[in-house]
Amino acid sequence: MNTTTENSDRDTHDHNVDHDEVRKFDELASRWWDPQGEFKPLHLLNPLRTGYVAERATLSNARVLDVGCGGGLLSESLAQRGAQVTGIDMAPGPLAVARLHQQKSGLEGIRYLQSTAEALAEAEPGAFDVVTCMEVIEHVPDPVSLVSACAALLRPGGQVFFSTLNRTPQAFLLAIVGAEYVLGMLPRGTHEYAKFVRPSELRNWAGAAKLTFNDIRGINYHPLGERFSMGGDVAVNYLMHFTRPE
Ligand code: SAH
Repeated sequence: MNTTTENSDRDTHDHNVDHDEVRKFDELASRWWDPQGEFKPLHLLNPLRTGYVAERATLSNARVLDVGCGGGLLSESLAQRGAQVTGIDMAPGPLAVARLHQQKSGLEGIRYLQSTAEALAEAEPGAFDVVTCMEVIEHVPDPVSLVSACAALLRPGGQVFFSTLNRTPQAFLLAIVGAEYVLGMLPRGTHEYAKFVRPSELRNWAGAAKLTFNDIRGINYHPLGERFSMGGDVAVNYLMHFTRPE
């Protein structure tokens, strides 16, 4: 299988990498697996989003790509359900943490690569049954290019799952003012409001990439119980599921 090297993607594909954004994640790498640390929201979210993917796609023996995998939270839980996972990210620190943690967990079915989705779409087009791209679209300069690369990475009939933050006053209050400033759940500067994505925008970008819309699901945070639940309210955080037609 063709693996993508650091140099080749730096040369050809870093137009869709915001290096300041990637550096923020790189600096926090060692904190990734602390359930009470800076990535606590991702730890709380992980079982819910894994369940959502598992309900809608077959994971056992599936070739799954986790785009912007960070320290590997979602990659590991997908591998635990029997998937053969490729995790890609542009930050070397989180990738190193992901590789170490994979050993600690004794999981064999994961390979981690430093790559953009765009570079991998050239190297391995149509190679995946399932693509996940969670909490990443709001961190790249060109989200249209990212969505289209995710579509190109799917085999015909494959499933893709995105999650992101909606561009609403509620999301601004909860994800930026609340999570970063009041509760201190996320480091300040993690999110930039202008980059949040409305569901209608994501649907349009996916439509332009010839993906068929299947479902949207809201993710709601309950501060008192420190937990998330899924429901119809997509005002803050949401998941979207699409299929690449046969
Ligand atoms: N998907 C993971 C991590 C989300 S944090 C999860 O939900 O648990 C966002 C991640 O996207 C960071 O690890 C960051 O380094 C990565 N990222 C940002 N821009 C990227 C790009 N252009 N290509 C690949 N990864 C990127």
